Amino acid sequence: MATAGKVIKCRAAVAWEPNAPLMMEEIEVAPPQEGEIRIKVVATGVCHTDLYHLFEGKDKRGFPTVLGHEGAGVVESVGPGVTDFKPGDKVIPVSVAHCGECRFCKSPKTNLCERSWINDHVDLMSYPTTCFTCRGQPILQFTSTGTFSEYIVINQIYVVKIHDDAPLDRVCLLGCGIPTGYGAAVNTAGVTPGSVCAVFGLGAVGLAAVMGCKNAGASRIFAVDINEQKFEKAKVFGATDFLNPKAYDKPISEVLAELTNGGVDFSIECVGNPEVMRAALESCIKGWGVSVLVGYTDVDFSARPIQLISGKTWKGTLLGGYKIKDSLPKLVNDYMTGKIMVDEFITHKMDLEQINDAINLMKTGQCIRCILNISK
Ligand code: NAD
Ligand code: ZN
Ligand code: ZN
Repeated sequence: MATAGKVIKCRAAVAWEPNAPLMMEEIEVAPPQEGEIRIKVVATGVCHTDLYHLFEGKDKRGFPTVLGHEGAGVVESVGPGVTDFKPGDKVIPVSVAHCGECRFCKSPKTNLCERSWINDHVDLMSYPTTCFTCRGQPILQFTSTGTFSEYIVINQIYVVKIHDDAPLDRVCLLGCGIPTGYGAAVNTAGVTPGSVCAVFGLGAVGLAAVMGCKNAGASRIFAVDINEQKFEKAKVFGATDFLNPKAYDKPISEVLAELTNGGVDFSIECVGNPEVMRAALESCIKGWGVSVLVGYTDVDFSARPIQLISGKTWKGTLLGGYKIKDSLPKLVNDYMTGKIMVDEFITHKMDLEQINDAINLMKTGQCIRCILNISK
C-alpha cells in the first residue's frame, strides 16, 4: 500500500461541540503504532448512542470528536506486532475490546475487558489519545472507533476479521445495534422456549431483541413503543402483540399484567429512559421475571425493593454480552446463511456528506437504521 507508514488526509464528519450539526472536514489520520490497525471504513450505521453523546449526555467533555461506532471496512495497513490482520482483510471495528489476557477476558461470565476505554474514560466516551487531527487540533475517536471518517486507527483488541464475502454495507450493523439487542435476549435474559416477552423501544436494538426472543422460542412477544409506526417492522422480526403506552390511562405494567396473568417472563428495555427501565422491571412476573437494561443513559434510575425481593432479576448488558473475537464473525456467518436478519433493519442509505440528515431521521423516529457510504 502506497499510504502505509504515512499520514493519510481524508474526509470526516467532526462533532466540534454538543447540540450542533456535524461539519465535513479534511482530517489527518496518523499511521498505526504498535498493536494498531488502520482501517479504510466502507460503511457505517448511525446508532442512538451517537445521538446520545451529541444531544443528551450530561457530561460534555468528549468533544471535539468523530462519532460513529457501527462500521465495517478493509485493513489499509498494520502497525508493528500485528500478526492476525493484513492489508485487504475485511473487518469490523467494535467499541468493546477483547485483549484475551485480562481476568475479564478469561472469564466466560462477561465481555468486559480491562484494557477497554470504558473503564477509565467514560467521561470522554473515548481514550484521551487519538489518531485524528484537524487544523492542528486533536479530535477524539468516539468509543475508540470514530467511523464517520474514511480512515480510522484502532488497537487490534477492538477489531474482528470477518468473512471475505461479507457485504460491508450491511454487516456494519453487526458492530453494535444487532448483537446488542439480539444478545440481550439470547445471552443476558436467557429467553426460554414458550416464554412470554416484552421489548420496550423498537429501534434497531429493540427489533434485534424481538428477533432474539423469537429465535429463542418465545411464544408471545409484546412490542412496546410510543411511535406506532414501528409496529409493522416489529411484526417482521416476530412480535405478536403491540402496545403504545400512551394509549392507556394506566401504567403499561398493569396492562401487561392483565394480558399475561401477572406479567411477562422476560422484559428488555431498549430506550435509554429511567422511567421505561422501571416500567420494564414492573412488567415482569414476580417469582422468576428477568428484566434487562440495554438503553444507555447517565442519569439515575430507581425502583421499589419489593420488585426484587419478590424474586425478579434486574440485569444490564453491553453489546448483548458477546465477546467480540469469537462471536461477531459467527454472527456474520449466521447472517450469510440466513439464520439472522440484517437487511430488514436498513431503511435508508446515504453518503457521509448527508450525515446531519441521517441524524435527523433517527432523532425524529423516521428510520430504523440509515447506512452511510463512507468510501468505495
Ligand atoms: P432508536 O432511537 O432507534 O430507538 C429507540 C426507540 O425507543 C424508538 O423507536 C422510540 O420511539 C422508542 N421510545 C422512546 N421513548 C419511549 C417510551 N417512553 N416508551 C417506549 N418506547 C419509547 O435507538 P437504538 O439505536 O435502537 O438504541 C436504543 C438504546 O440502546 C439507546 O439508548 C442506545 O444508546 C442503547 N444502546 C445500548 C448498547 C449497549 O451495549 N447496552 C448498545 C447500543 C445501543
Ligand atoms: Zn451503538
Ligand atoms: Zn481483556
